[in-house]
Amino acid sequence: MDIGDIKEVIEVEPVEEPARVPEPQQPEPAPAPVAEDSRVKEYTTIDKTGWGDGPWSDEPDKRQWVDETTGLDCLIVRNVAGALCGYVGVGPDHPWHGVDYGDCTAGCGEPWCGHSPDSLVDVHGGLTYSAGCQEHVDPAKGICHVPEPGRPDDVFWYGFDCAHAGDVLPTLADVMRFPDSYDVYRDFDYVTWQVELLAVQLEGVA
Ligand SMILES: [Zn+2]
Repeated sequence: MDIGDIKEVIEVEPVEEPARVPEPQQPEPAPAPVAEDSRVKEYTTIDKTGWGDGPWSDEPDKRQWVDETTGLDCLIVRNVAGALCGYVGVGPDHPWHGVDYGDCTAGCGEPWCGHSPDSLVDVHGGLTYSAGCQEHVDPAKGICHVPEPGRPDDVFWYGFDCAHAGDVLPTLADVMRFPDSYDVYRDFDYVTWQVELLAVQLEGVA
């Protein structure tokens, strides 16, 4: 894929309320006020020329924030297909820190036992990623975070992607669009909502 000129834009914007169950007749919720300690970092790095028009045209390519409900670090990162992927980081004291998303968390030793993080967590398409912070990557693009002051550097990320059947891949949107397609582009609002749901589930792990 031709990335073209890579521009790096870092903007700090207020956290917007995700569109939870959208109801056509209701007005848009007012954006949250800009917090003085707004812990949001956004990066726009991908040249989307040739993708065709879509919601992605006006979206950033990475967002890092701290979820207000759980206090967990969160990421949205656009992948090479243009699809958004969501991640929640758990700290060293979390029982699943370092546990692969497909591994048993209960030590039962049985395959397909239902104790894996992927089995226990409900998120778009299921978990498809678990790893520590990527080292030596561009913080504007990688599955890593720039720790806010006083927050852990050593977080273990659980992630999901929006490149499943039924999801629109922006890089293919022009060539793959069929008249009867019900595929949906999973935009920042949707992925933010899923990330927050994942964060609540991870926080609830005893
Ligand atoms: Zn098990």
